[in-house]
Amino acid sequence: MTPEGPSLSPEQRATALALFRAMIPAGERVPAVGDRTLRATLEVAAEVSGLGAETFGRLLGALDLAALPSTGRRFQSLSPQGQERLIRRWETSPLLKWPIFLLANMVKLAHFDCTEVYARYGVEFPKGGPDEPVAWMSQVQSGDDWEDGEWIECDVVVVGTGPGGAIVGKELAEEGHAVVFLEEGKLHRRDSFDGSGRTSIKHFYRGHGVMSALGNSAVPVLAGRLVGGSTAINTAICFRTPTWILDEWCERLGTDQLKAVRLERHFERVERHSRVQPNDEKVIGPIGDIVRRGCEKLGWSHFVLERNAPDCDNQGCCDWGCPSGARLSMDRTYIPMALQRGAVLFTDSRAVEVIVDNGRAVGVVAESVERKRKIRVRAQAVVLACGAIPTPVLLLGQGICNSSGQVGRNLSLHPGVPASAEFDHPVEAYKYSPSGVGVDQFHREGQMLVSVGLDINMVSSAHPILGRRFTEFMDKYDRIGTMGVLLKDATRNGRVRVGPGGGPLITYWLQEEDLRQLVLATSRIHELFFAAGARRCYPLGHRMPVLESPADLEAYRRRRIAASDWVWTAFHPLGTAQMGHDPASSVVSLDNETHDVRRLFIVDGSVVPGPTAVNPQLTIMALATRAAERINRYLD
Ligand SMILES: Cc1cc2nc3c(=O)[nH]c(=O)nc-3n(C[C@H](O)[C@H](O)[C@H](O)COP(=O)(O)OP(=O)(O)OC[C@H]3O[C@@H](n4cnc5c(N)ncnc54)[C@H](O)[C@@H]3O)c2cc1C
Repeated sequence: MTPEGPSLSPEQRATALALFRAMIPAGERVPAVGDRTLRATLEVAAEVSGLGAETFGRLLGALDLAALPSTGRRFQSLSPQGQERLIRRWETSPLLKWPIFLLANMVKLAHFDCTEVYARYGVEFPKGGPDEPVAWMSQVQSGDDWEDGEWIECDVVVVGTGPGGAIVGKELAEEGHAVVFLEEGKLHRRDSFDGSGRTSIKHFYRGHGVMSALGNSAVPVLAGRLVGGSTAINTAICFRTPTWILDEWCERLGTDQLKAVRLERHFERVERHSRVQPNDEKVIGPIGDIVRRGCEKLGWSHFVLERNAPDCDNQGCCDWGCPSGARLSMDRTYIPMALQRGAVLFTDSRAVEVIVDNGRAVGVVAESVERKRKIRVRAQAVVLACGAIPTPVLLLGQGICNSSGQVGRNLSLHPGVPASAEFDHPVEAYKYSPSGVGVDQFHREGQMLVSVGLDINMVSSAHPILGRRFTEFMDKYDRIGTMGVLLKDATRNGRVRVGPGGGPLITYWLQEEDLRQLVLATSRIHELFFAAGARRCYPLGHRMPVLESPADLEAYRRRRIAASDWVWTAFHPLGTAQMGHDPASSVVSLDNETHDVRRLFIVDGSVVPGPTAVNPQLTIMALATRAAERINRYLD
């Protein structure tokens, strides 16, 4: 591809530039769209959705013609003002809203993910640096280097290296068992993490970040596909499961095994290994003062978040991978600890079948990602930790462990939406940790409010507006503060099925109660922002008003905002292979062994008995620590 992007015809190129410029007009900080953005957008389209330039060009041609019915002219021949007017109309059109939103997100990522833009906000980009050599690398091998048809013997094979798998593998390796990890993704060390959303979506996210749940809205369900699982791309927030949630689970499951007092030592252990501690003031930044100021005026309870990033140096891009290695995710803690105790890690190795013999799991068939080479790992016990979406897909695809009919059901997602406000002073969220402080005043209602420092290339997509309004927002992004709602789902109505091509088909419906809670929670964020001196507030979503003063809050609270107008994200899929005593209503026992196949254990987010109402990594870690003790008793 040459700088002019010759894979588009001159006609298509003219349409592309006209559309992109109408979406993102040049501003003070926002540079003009030109050939660089066009080229990068074509690359993003190919990386994320597999769209070649030819198909992309045809879609552009269709949008060019879509202007005809309302204006009598093609898009590229309208005046710049006419183009922006039309884009604004398309932004809310039931038919064109989603194609425009998806296209705009690609263009925004392509435009903002670049050194020149970051420099305009006074931030260095790209980030990252060399990693130190480590001896345990000799224990890591790519599945693509296997001999096809090879057999490997071990005591325990662990599939997936997120918190569930990494912890069970490490604990059992320390008990002297021979552990083999199979991980579909690659091992990335800090030199891979350059702060770029494009790099991250291309290499570290499952389904390139576009794996989505469909229902009354389309929501991306985000998960990592690399060693460390989602912990290697997460925000590092650490919460113990609230006692009232554990009590709810125990009551439903008819047990006291998950009571806070029984899990205490497991939480202590994972917190020690992950060095969980409250954020230092230097990583919180001005958003901390805003939240404290607002809460103190309103009499609301607030707190400093705890994270597993004790040496955080404010790279501001945790969810793209930590360039300084300060976040102590599984790839920096439990996996190296396991490898040092003799475990072996096969990367690029996708488990495709659990080998079952006479009702007992005896191993796993894995396929290497690139070369499709197969190996069989024989083991006394098989531990599945692929995450709450891939684990049910594996089981359903093979048709095992589903005598209860519960595999893939009970999915909860913790609907999360951000809300922003403009201040008279610098906030510069992108220069600090993305998660500084929280407000727990409304937690028992299911609402946890936390500060959210969205990186520049991230915020541009989180705010779905286009045209001059968008550029004005980005121009003053240094003075914008953002908080997010983490909502305890009203129901666990989500479901994972096997879709076409063997991938996940995920459904989820936001309930009336969730919709009501989202309006209420975001109105509370805006109330807090106004109390802290905000000039105006921006609910982020489609067709959202700008709130110019506290007087606008009442009307906002009365709004009925449709599910499809929220731009929400699911970072916490949980519950799709639920735990319980009763084989008729659950998939695994309280020992994490599946009811249907002996010596097959599930230890990831899928066994978590319900939404945790807080970020769940520590819950998964503590439950996995508990599971490791139990699995150890089953091994010879
Ligand atoms: C962007 C983001 C930010 C987040 N922020 C926070 C936060 O701040 N705090 C918090 O508590 N939680 C956070 N979370 C959630 C948290 O990281 C997850 O809940 C947790 O990591 C889930 O653990 P898991 O073991 O279930 O699965 P995962 O962590 O998803 O790990 C599963 C692993 O299994 C691998 N795998 C899948 N299928 C196969 C297969 N067939 N064969 C081999 N390997 C396979 C995957 O590649 C992956 O590496 C965040 C999540 C995301 C995506």
